[in-house]
Amino acid sequence: MMPNGPRILPVRNPYSGEFDYEITPPTPDELAGICDRLRAAQVKWGAAPLEHRIEVLSRWADELDKAYGPLSAADYTDTGGCLISLMSPRIVAGSVRAWAADAPQVLAAAARSGTSSIAASISFRTQLVPYPLVGVISPWNGPLMLSMLDPVPALFAGSAVIVKPSEVAPRFTEPLLETIRAVPELAEVLTVITGDGQTGQELIGQVDMLCFTGSVPNGRKVAQACAARLIPVYLELGGKDPVIVTASADLDQAATAVLRGAAFGTGQVCFSIERIYVHEDVHDEFVDLLVRKAERIRLNYPDIGDGEIGPFGFDRQAKIADEHLADALAKGAVIRTGGPSRQLGGGHFMRPTVLTEVNHDMLLMQEESFAPFMPVMRYRTEDEAVRLANDTHYGLSAAVLAGTAEEAARIGERVNAGTVSLQDTFLTLFKTRDIGTNSFGDSGLGGDRTGPASILRFLRKKALMTQSAPPAPLARPPIPAPPPAAPEPASSAAPAPATPEGDA
Ligand code: NAD
Repeated sequence: MMPNGPRILPVRNPYSGEFDYEITPPTPDELAGICDRLRAAQVKWGAAPLEHRIEVLSRWADELDKAYGPLSAADYTDTGGCLISLMSPRIVAGSVRAWAADAPQVLAAAARSGTSSIAASISFRTQLVPYPLVGVISPWNGPLMLSMLDPVPALFAGSAVIVKPSEVAPRFTEPLLETIRAVPELAEVLTVITGDGQTGQELIGQVDMLCFTGSVPNGRKVAQACAARLIPVYLELGGKDPVIVTASADLDQAATAVLRGAAFGTGQVCFSIERIYVHEDVHDEFVDLLVRKAERIRLNYPDIGDGEIGPFGFDRQAKIADEHLADALAKGAVIRTGGPSRQLGGGHFMRPTVLTEVNHDMLLMQEESFAPFMPVMRYRTEDEAVRLANDTHYGLSAAVLAGTAEEAARIGERVNAGTVSLQDTFLTLFKTRDIGTNSFGDSGLGGDRTGPASILRFLRKKALMTQSAPPAPLARPPIPAPPPAAPEPASSAAPAPATPEGDA
C-alpha cells in the first residue's frame, strides 16, 4: 500500500464469523475532494427556501420506503439479525417526514426581531446561518438508524452532511447511497463514506461541526481533535443505566421490563439496563421471576429468523463481556442463569445472564458491558438506592419501577441521567421532537440532540442591527446616573408598608 494510497478493510459477518465484505475508505485527497464538492453545493442548498428542502427530503423519504427490503436486509446482516434492523428504515423515513412537518414552526419560533432594550433607535433581526459542512461519525449498533439521527435535522437546517458509519457494520451504506442518488438534489449535499477511526480523524480535519455517537474513550479523542480545530462537537456516548425496583412494585411487570431493557439487541443498546437495584424485601422473589423469564429467551441460532436475541455485533464486544464476567466471578458474584459467551457457528452468543452478590468494585457494575447482563444488587433505603444509581461516571438513562407513578417520579427526580423511564424501561426510544434532553456525566456533551434543538444546533444565530437615528459622533459618553437608592426600612423586623407613591 502506498503511504497515501487506498486501504482495504475486511469486514466480519457477526453471525457467520466470516470476513465476507470489505470497504475501501477514501484517501485523504479523495476525502478532501468530496468535502469540497459538498461545501460548494451547500451554498445553494442553504440559501434555498425551507419549502425546497422539505420537498427534496420528502422525496427521499419515499425512496427510503421503496428500498425497505435491501436496507433492512443489509442492516440485518450488519447486526447478526438484530430486531431493530427490521424497523430502522421505517424509523429513518418516519423521522424525515416528521421533521418536514415540524421544521417550519421550529425555525419560525427561533427567529427574533425587535428594538434594542438599551437604545430605542436601534432595531435588530436575527438571521439563522447553517454550518456549511457537518460531519457525522456513528457506531456499529443500530447502524442505519444511528447514522441518520443527526444528518436529517442538519439537512433541514441547510447544512451539507458527510457521514462515516462504523467500519464494523458498513453494509447498509450501499443501499442507502442508492436512495440518496435517486434524489439528485440531495446527492449534492449528503453522502456516506466508509472507513475506520483513522478516517474519522481525517474527517474532523475537513468539517465545520461534528456529531459523534460512540464510546467514551473515542468520544474523548474526537473532542480533543475538534477542540484543536475550534469546531463545535456533539457527543452521544456510552451508558451504564441503572434501574431501581422498589418494594411496592409489581414484580412480574418489573421483571418483564428489566429483562427487555437489559437483553434487547443482546444488550448492545446505549440505554440498555446494566445495573439493577432491588429493595431487600423483594430481592429474592424478583430474582426468581427474572431468572424464569430470562430462561425463556431464545437465541437466533441456528435460525437467524427465529429467537429474540442474536450474536454480539462485534467480536471484540464478546471479549469485553467475558472479561467483565470473569472479574465479577473472581470478586464473588454468583451466576443465577446464563454465563460466558459461546461460539455457535461463527458467531459469539451470550444468553441473558442474571447475577447476584454483585458490588461496585466489579467492572460489570462500573464500566459499560454492552452485553445481556442483569446484575442484581439489594438496597435497604431509598437514599441508598439513589446513591448506588448515581455512583457512576455515566448518566445516559435510568429507570424506576415502583408501586405508583408518583413514587417512581419522586425517586426518578433524584437520579442523574438524561432520560428516566418511570414504570417501564427503554422509554428513551420514544422521545419525540418535542423533548430535548442532556446526558449527565461522561455520557454526552454538547447539548440536546432531540427536540427543536436537533435542527437549531446546526444554525448559527446572526444579528442584523439597524440604527434609525443619526450615528453618534466620537465623544466622551455621558456617564449614566446611578439608580436612586432604596429607602432604609424602618426596622428589619417590620418593613415599611408600600405607599401609593412608590419608593421615589
Ligand atoms: P466506537 O467509539 O468504537 O466507534 C464509534 C465510531 O467512531 C466509529 O465510526 C469509529 O470508526 C469511529 N472512531 C473510532 N475511533 C475514532 C477516532 N479516534 N476518531 C474519530 N472517529 C473514531 O464505538 P462503537 O463501539 O462503534 O459503538 C458502541 C458505543 O457507542 C457504546 O459505548 C455505546 O453506548 C455508544 N452509543 C451511544 C449512543 C448514544 O446515543 N448515546 C447510541 C449508540 C451507541
